[in-house]
Amino acid sequence: MDSSEGSEAREDHRDRPGATSYFIREIVAADLASGKHEYPHTRFPPEPNGYLHIGHAKSIVLNFGIAEENEGGLCNLRFDDTNPLTEDMEYARAIERDVRWLGYDWEDRRYFASDYFQRLYELAELLVEKGLAYVDSLSEEEIREYRGTVTEPGRESPYRNRPVKENLDLLRRMKAGEFPDGEHVLRAKIDMAHPNMKMRDPLLYRIRHAPHYRAGDEWCIYPMYDYTHCLSDAFEGITHSLCTLEFENNRAIYDWVLEAVDWPEPRPRQIEFARLNLSYTVLSKRKLLALVEEGRVDGWDDPRMPTLSGFRNRGIPPSAIRSFCDAIGVSKANSVVDVAHLEHAIRDDLNEKAPRVLGVLRPLKVVVTNYPEDEEEWLEAAYWPRDVPGDETREIPFSRELYIDRSDFREDPPRGYRRLAPGREVRLRYGFFIRCEEAVRDEEGEIRELRCTYDPETRGGRAPDGRKPKGTIHWVSARHALSAEVRLYDRLFADSRPDRGKGGPDFREFLNPESLEILEARVEPSLGDTDAGSRWQFEREGYFYRVPSDPRDEPVFHRIVTLKDTWEERRRETAKEEKQPSGEEEMGGRSSAPKSEPPDPWANVTPEQRAMMETLVEEHGIEASDARILAEDPHRIALFEGAVRAHPENPQGIANWMVNELLGLLEEGVVETLPFGGKSLGELVGLIDEGTISTKIAKEVLTVMVREGGDPRTLVEDRDLIQISDRQELLSAIDGILADHTEEVERFRSGEDRLLGFFMGRIMQATEGKAHPETAKELLRERLGSATD
Ligand code: ATP
Ligand code: MG
Repeated sequence: MDSSEGSEAREDHRDRPGATSYFIREIVAADLASGKHEYPHTRFPPEPNGYLHIGHAKSIVLNFGIAEENEGGLCNLRFDDTNPLTEDMEYARAIERDVRWLGYDWEDRRYFASDYFQRLYELAELLVEKGLAYVDSLSEEEIREYRGTVTEPGRESPYRNRPVKENLDLLRRMKAGEFPDGEHVLRAKIDMAHPNMKMRDPLLYRIRHAPHYRAGDEWCIYPMYDYTHCLSDAFEGITHSLCTLEFENNRAIYDWVLEAVDWPEPRPRQIEFARLNLSYTVLSKRKLLALVEEGRVDGWDDPRMPTLSGFRNRGIPPSAIRSFCDAIGVSKANSVVDVAHLEHAIRDDLNEKAPRVLGVLRPLKVVVTNYPEDEEEWLEAAYWPRDVPGDETREIPFSRELYIDRSDFREDPPRGYRRLAPGREVRLRYGFFIRCEEAVRDEEGEIRELRCTYDPETRGGRAPDGRKPKGTIHWVSARHALSAEVRLYDRLFADSRPDRGKGGPDFREFLNPESLEILEARVEPSLGDTDAGSRWQFEREGYFYRVPSDPRDEPVFHRIVTLKDTWEERRRETAKEEKQPSGEEEMGGRSSAPKSEPPDPWANVTPEQRAMMETLVEEHGIEASDARILAEDPHRIALFEGAVRAHPENPQGIANWMVNELLGLLEEGVVETLPFGGKSLGELVGLIDEGTISTKIAKEVLTVMVREGGDPRTLVEDRDLIQISDRQELLSAIDGILADHTEEVERFRSGEDRLLGFFMGRIMQATEGKAHPETAKELLRERLGSATD
């Protein structure tokens, strides 16, 4: 089995089913339809002063995406390298590698703005000659002061009306290196009273006596972004120049410059979109650089960094990042995207790519006392779960000594604990049932090993007598398992908003001290000869990436992502305990739960959760308390929405089933790994609503679905659970019950109406819950009434 992809490149660039429609696409389509352009030509313009991060990925997917999805479309890679002080070829190379890794190709169109220095300068002379630019000799400080404020117009510089000849002379001498830094600048001559401050004679060139990483010592004046960007776009034939919202006010300069140099139509058009902000993440290159320089991470490609090289090193597939970018869409409203969406996209991507294997992260030895010492047997284990295509299997060894995870044993199990405890039985995944007989401690009182017995009749996970342990845990055979170093990465920041901006606490204060944990794990032997770069799901633990390393060394795995949003786990645990005890262990637990003031469902929610809750309440009419529970996990929302699509008539019913029944059946309320989707859940609620099955049967069906998936209608039919609505069958049951309870019949007839419930209960009992309640009630009334006649 090999789960590495070799090349990560995509086969079909145009197939982007997850991509949502957005305004830029519409603008492009309109420009093609009107004949303004034959094809779109975009560019991705990074400044080579740092590594690319997930925010850049949004821009890359957008720009290359527009090109790909239109016939003949092109996208350039352009290094926006006009600042000699911060740029570096190492960054440029890293950027190229990252763009390629994301799956995009600029073919032969890699450009450097620095290659345009000569052309840009010639146009600057042209502007001077046209009287549209002048050399200003105010200091930096004075220039700022003269610019005015949003409410006050600026003042004109005393140098503003220098004659063209003098300007040209000064500009040439600036270029020739006659002046020190800051002595003069070249400015556009626009309007010092312009309501848009950016238009108050913006700077076009400044003096910087610094060598450029590519142009060397050739230049000591460097063009400014506002002057360079629009012209570079024009030189390259760019049609749509996409940039982030901060540049909205710069658009006026963009257009002014192209007009000033008489650039022929059609000219490139600047369109702004909202930059990506992610919760629990900083995306400023300056701050990321600080983390690297201060040694708070192991470089730009540390697997905790939000950089593309960090993601690659962590093991995240590029396809996951592309589908995340497609899913978040592109808009003009700035917002913060919950990092949970990114993690969801990663899980979603890996679900069908990463074969399932067993690995024990925190090994606790188990001695199977009734298994012979020198024997072993090999058990068949599936690489893929039911709902993922693929039927490959491998064999895993079972022997007398095993390892299980420490967290799967509790000496004093809390309520609802479904794993191993003294006297309890669990199922070993693909193996046998084992029962814990004894926990053996060392001198310090630490549990050293468990002594268990196994039931040889339960090979493959099924008992002939039909008994079912409450939980299934993963394990490995101690003798056969391989040691592996496992690095568990967690969010780099412990706060959802580490970057509070000016005046707020420093972002470093929010660094998560537990963002990396290194463990010595034991993994199943089949992982020994797998490839570096392969990705696996360690069942119940997460998705892992085999780090490229010397094959003679012990394998190292990075945890790419957990199987569920463990970040929210603790809060969810508390919420679940309040909401309901686990169904299998508690009888009538729900009604005996203490009645206290219900908590405010809107309290302490993140803005993302609030937004989801509002949608649920406003669009689907869901009660806020249920909406709160659903909004705790985007997978719950996805499941809910899938269910509503399949059964749109009763969203609250679906919410009830999810909150009150389904979550109670699941360990830690995780819906992500369920073997069925929203459609099946919707169909199940539909079957109840249309009267095909009772709620009691629905619960049974749901339990089966949770365990092994399946389509609810087939499950109902297979199990002969269609409600007895046949009147004859029902009537004979009712008649039998009435005959057995003559005393209650008398009392009912003398006015004790509530006995109707008593009779209904008997009917349900007699029909094993299959009676259609409405029909039964109707017939019961008929019988009880007719007897009085
Ligand atoms: P920083 O502010 O961190 O230095 P930057 O925007 O200056 O980032 P560039 O290298 O200039 O970084 O960015 C290249 C392209 O990527 C630009 O078009 C920019 O708009 C886009 N980009 C950068 N950050 C984001 C983001 N968070 N979301 C979307 N696009 C982004
Ligand atoms: Mg920039």
